[in-house]
Amino acid sequence: MAFEGLSERLQNTFAKLRGKGKVTKADVQEMMREVRLALLEADVNFDVTKNFIKTVQERAVGSEVLDSLTPAQQVIKIVNEELTKIMGSSAVLLNQASHIPTVIMLVGLQGSGKTTSAGKLVKYLQAEKNARPLLIAADVYRPAAIDQLQTIGQQVQVPVYDEGTNQDPVEIVRHGLETAQAKKNDYVLIDTAGRLEIDDQLMSELSRIKQVAQPTEILLVVDSMTGQAATHVAEGFNDRLDISGVILTKLDGDTRGGAALSIRAVTGKPIKFVGSGEKLDALEVFHPDRMADRILG
Ligand code: GDP
Repeated sequence: MAFEGLSERLQNTFAKLRGKGKVTKADVQEMMREVRLALLEADVNFDVTKNFIKTVQERAVGSEVLDSLTPAQQVIKIVNEELTKIMGSSAVLLNQASHIPTVIMLVGLQGSGKTTSAGKLVKYLQAEKNARPLLIAADVYRPAAIDQLQTIGQQVQVPVYDEGTNQDPVEIVRHGLETAQAKKNDYVLIDTAGRLEIDDQLMSELSRIKQVAQPTEILLVVDSMTGQAATHVAEGFNDRLDISGVILTKLDGDTRGGAALSIRAVTGKPIKFVGSGEKLDALEVFHPDRMADRILG
C-alpha cells in the first residue's frame, strides 16, 4: 500500500506530541526533525522537504498555537494544511477546448502506464462527459504498443486510428485529427512513444506532434514507484513540452510516495489523476486534501 512507511512514521511522531499536555517550541522542533527524516526517506524532493519544514515550523511555534488549549492538535493541523498545499491545494480538472475536439496528448517514459492511462481516461470521459473519443496510436517504434492500444480501444469501445509503424508519427497525428474532425469526435487522445529515459530525439518528436496537434492538455504519465526519478522525469518533460498536468500511476503499489508530494512543488504543474490499479476503471481524480488525510491517517 502506498505511503505505508511515511504514514506510520508520521503517526508515531504525532502520537508522541499528543501525549504531551504542554507543547514547547523544543517539542515542535524535535517533531519536525522526525517529520523531515520521514519525508526524505519517502523520497520527497530535498528542497520541497526543506521549505515544508521551514513553513510548518514558522507557523507552529507561535504563542497562539503553543498556548492554545489543544497545541498538539493545532500543530498536526498545520502539518496537514501545508502538506495539502504542496500538493496543489485542490483538485484540478481537465480543460476543455472551445471547439471540438479537445485534444489530449499523453507523454511519458516507456512502462510508465501511458497506454493503460489512455484507456482509463477514455472510460473517465465516457462516464463524466458522455464523450465519444478517438484514440490515436502515435508510438511507431513498438508494434506491440499499437496492438495494445487497439485492444484497449475494443475494451472501451472507441475507434483507434493507426497507420502501423512505417509512417512519421506527426503525419499519423495529422491524419488522425482529420478523421476526428470528419467523425465529429469530441475528444482525441494521442498515445505517443516512450523511451527508457528522456532523450533529445524523443523530445523533438513530441514537440513536433505538439505543434501539429495543438493539444488542450499534455498529460505526463509518471510511475510513482520510481521514487526521486519520477520528479526528475516530470521536470525534464515540463522543461521541453510545458505539460499541463500529470497522471501519477501505480499508487496501488508500495510506492513510498515522494513523487505525489514533490511534483507539484518542483514543476508547478498539477497532478490531475492517479492510477490505482491495472484495470481500466482504476483512475481517480487527484484531491490533495484527501491525499494529505490519507497520509496523516
Ligand atoms: P506504457 O509503456 O507507458 O504505455 O505503459 P503501459 O500502459 O503498457 O503499462 C505498463 C505496465 O504498468 C502494465 O503492466 C500496466 O498494466 C501497468 N500499470 C499501468 N498503470 C498502473 C497502475 O496504476 N497500477 C498498477 N498496479 N499497474 C499499472
